[in-house]
Amino acid sequence: MRPFARGLTAAARVVKMRRPVTQHAGERPRSLEPSWANWRMTLNLNDIAHYIVDVPDFPKPGVVFKDITPLLASPGAFGATVDLLAARIEASGAAEILAIESRGFIFGSAVATRLSLPLHLVRKPGKLPRDTVGFDYALEYGTDRVEIHSGTLRPGTRYSIIDDVIATGGTAAATANLVRQQGALLAGCCVVIELGFLNGRALLDDCPVDSLINYE
Ligand code: AMP
Repeated sequence: MRPFARGLTAAARVVKMRRPVTQHAGERPRSLEPSWANWRMTLNLNDIAHYIVDVPDFPKPGVVFKDITPLLASPGAFGATVDLLAARIEASGAAEILAIESRGFIFGSAVATRLSLPLHLVRKPGKLPRDTVGFDYALEYGTDRVEIHSGTLRPGTRYSIIDDVIATGGTAAATANLVRQQGALLAGCCVVIELGFLNGRALLDDCPVDSLINYE
């Protein structure tokens, strides 16, 4: 069975338990989702994982891409994911949120508004319209860079870094280094998915890494 189909089954099982009268055979869980708000925390991490689809050999041969679009398409699963991220980031004592381009923006913005924290965008070179500060980092071939508007990172303020996936850790580590470079503090790095077999967290040194789902 395809992962997404399994995910729908898992979600539907919850719907059936909680709303037996309105559940119809073959009905998509989404049709019940306007009333999910009170019980979406009943979706656990296994349920959420079913909404993440492995796409082999994308964007290049040998890479298994973690596609989160089915998760975003389910208000229940997306809401539960944001709830879990927000709880962990609140516990970390973060004062402000740094969201990494581009899928980090989706989760970062949802968490920032949930916790009423300022949101800042960490982007690839040339995307931000005003003066920037940046940090270069090595790729397998060549280098890349993360940038943020100058003056955004304030010394002594604690920032939480958010992204969808931590793989090799290069992007998150460069963001952490940008925070350190500006004299600011790190509350941690929080991601939905960690590719633990790549040990990317090792690159972040003393910056704690917190992932909801770890593929080891
Ligand atoms: P890395 O710097 O290697 O940790 O890569 C992290 C960034 O690349 C994140 O912003 C992810 O969105 C993206 N990324 C890396 N590997 C994957 C993957 N297997 N599936 C989806 N996104 C990935």
